[in-house]
Amino acid sequence: MTRRQIMAGNWKMHKTHEEAASFARELVPLVADYTNLEVVVCPPFTALASIASVFKGSTVSFGGQNLYWEEKGAYTGEIAPGMLKSLGCRYVIVGHSERRKYFHETYDLVKRKIQAACGHGLIPIVCVGEFLDEREAGRTEEVLTAQVREAFSGLAAETITSLAVAYEPIWAIGTGVNASTDDAQNGCGLVRARLAELVGDEVAAKVRILYGGSVKPANVNSYLDCPDVDGGLVGGASLEAALFAELVKAWSGKNLEQAAG
Ligand code: PEP
Repeated sequence: MTRRQIMAGNWKMHKTHEEAASFARELVPLVADYTNLEVVVCPPFTALASIASVFKGSTVSFGGQNLYWEEKGAYTGEIAPGMLKSLGCRYVIVGHSERRKYFHETYDLVKRKIQAACGHGLIPIVCVGEFLDEREAGRTEEVLTAQVREAFSGLAAETITSLAVAYEPIWAIGTGVNASTDDAQNGCGLVRARLAELVGDEVAAKVRILYGGSVKPANVNSYLDCPDVDGGLVGGASLEAALFAELVKAWSGKNLEQAAG
């Protein structure tokens, strides 16, 4: 099973729309040759239109960092899936731990967002991951199992096949402490195994599962041989075009046949 790999950048609350456009102009030629994986940039909503015009016709896709599940209405401050789609978004990050931590998002809400995104042809990148105290208490497996079940149970197999999951241990996000090769493989492998319990091995084998947490050029190679890691979701190192392009280049060298074996 070879899955189309993804290197996605999550800019969080960084860059004005002018800064974003200048980043986009720099990135396009740097990654143009690496067409065996998908390169995705998720800027703040305010920069989507600017980068859309630069990325048009390029190899780079883009997406939102969040969405609301309703089509429209009196939901001040929210963004509907159709609004993202009409700007040309292909992806949307859903359930990032910062949304869970600061904005009290639950996996029940995450599930609604997944359904709304998929219903509009957007590919959600659904984030899961354990806190440091949960890891230290030996609860990683239990936490990931609960998150996968809450977010995905009851969803149609076609929905699950089309989406991507990001295993992002929260202790590794923005800390500079990246997960070891084994931790990343075990986390992503566990997510796949739990998905298989919900929708069967065949569907689970098609789902792209990314690792996220302090990925940078110095450590990205340590995940290349993980059979269940299909790319990265990157925060800090996605803010500089040259750094992000290094990650894309490194991941384009992944040997998919070997990983599948
Ligand atoms: C993230 O925001 O999803 C992330 C993984 O951030 P960082 O790469 O900075 O740890």
